[in-house]
Amino acid sequence: MTNLDDELIELRREIHHRPELAGEERETAGLVAQQLRAAGLEVTTGVGGHGIVAVLDGSADGPTVAYRADMDAVDTNANVLPFPRPDRVFDEGFASRVPGVAHLCGHDLHTAIGVGVARALATGAEPVRGRLVFVFQPAEEPLQGARAMLESGVVQKLAPREFYALHCSPFPCGTIGVSPGYGLPGMDHVRIVLPGGDDVAAAFTAEVSALGTVAFPQSIAEYNARFRALMEPETAASIQESVCVAHWTEREPDGQLVVNVLLRVWPQQRFAQLRAQVEQLAAAAGGQIQFPGDPFPAMVNSAELSTAAGRYLSGALGSQSVLWAGASWPFNCEDFALFLDEAPGAQFYLGVANAESGMNGAPHTPDFAADERAIGFGVRAMAGLLTERLAARSGGR
Ligand SMILES: [Zn+2]
Repeated sequence: MTNLDDELIELRREIHHRPELAGEERETAGLVAQQLRAAGLEVTTGVGGHGIVAVLDGSADGPTVAYRADMDAVDTNANVLPFPRPDRVFDEGFASRVPGVAHLCGHDLHTAIGVGVARALATGAEPVRGRLVFVFQPAEEPLQGARAMLESGVVQKLAPREFYALHCSPFPCGTIGVSPGYGLPGMDHVRIVLPGGDDVAAAFTAEVSALGTVAFPQSIAEYNARFRALMEPETAASIQESVCVAHWTEREPDGQLVVNVLLRVWPQQRFAQLRAQVEQLAAAAGGQIQFPGDPFPAMVNSAELSTAAGRYLSGALGSQSVLWAGASWPFNCEDFALFLDEAPGAQFYLGVANAESGMNGAPHTPDFAADERAIGFGVRAMAGLLTERLAARSGGR
């Protein structure tokens, strides 16, 4: 533990204490901007909402590599897995003071780590051979912030050659997962306007649900088992190929029944076939099908850069610290997908669980809790990786 680690834990607790929903990250962004400016970075605020882009120029000319963190908290009334409510509290003294809003996806840790990486590298203790761009994005949960930031053009102007990020996971604190060539699924939203009553909707949703090959986990044991399975080569591929279907029914003001279906599938190319299957079911039920937009893209980790990162991290942190996953968690989309469309790179799974103390590290569960030592670990992992990538790209090794 260093002084910086302690200060970052303080920062995380401050953000945890006053969580802000997507699009409302004013105070969080303010804290981030303040710390980055104090560290000497060139900071642009208000990018695509409360987004921040900060530039750190190293001691030598060289390529540009980017790092992203997300800042928004979770709406606990809408976006939490239906597990039993927690009977333990791990954030006593800094628990959310905002009813219905909490950092249950670990973005408070992501933000603290991003600030920590920037601060650690701004000291010049490690050679930075080129330029690092730090992106702090708003509105990750509704998958809107990345697009809004990219629409401003600020990130593209800096032309990063590689992009990295991490996400909290139920792997043990002190580990980091890489999944070369894999990533998180894209998502398609389909609306079906149905004739008839609730019985027609019930029959239709049963048929649509049958397209799914996997259900959301129903318990923390199931959740953890699926994460562990990512590292079993025999089952990993089938996990990655799962089709995940969610749906809800609403009634329009004119009384029309509308079934909304969310489809998550990997890889992106399978959406065309899935759409055709839903269309067929809708036609058979006499329904009208609508696609409010194109599918949200899958997040694809570069096989080459993930592998290189995994090897570097094994060398720097010890091979026991790196978990090689043959797939990714197939139930969530990730806004980082859009940054990876700008430049290749990878998102890693940062282990934040501590089984002994009961911290589950499982994002979007009602009792998400993280071992804060993961913050310092994440900072060292990412600071090392980013300087290594600059050196590698400038032909330094
Ligand atoms: Zn998240």
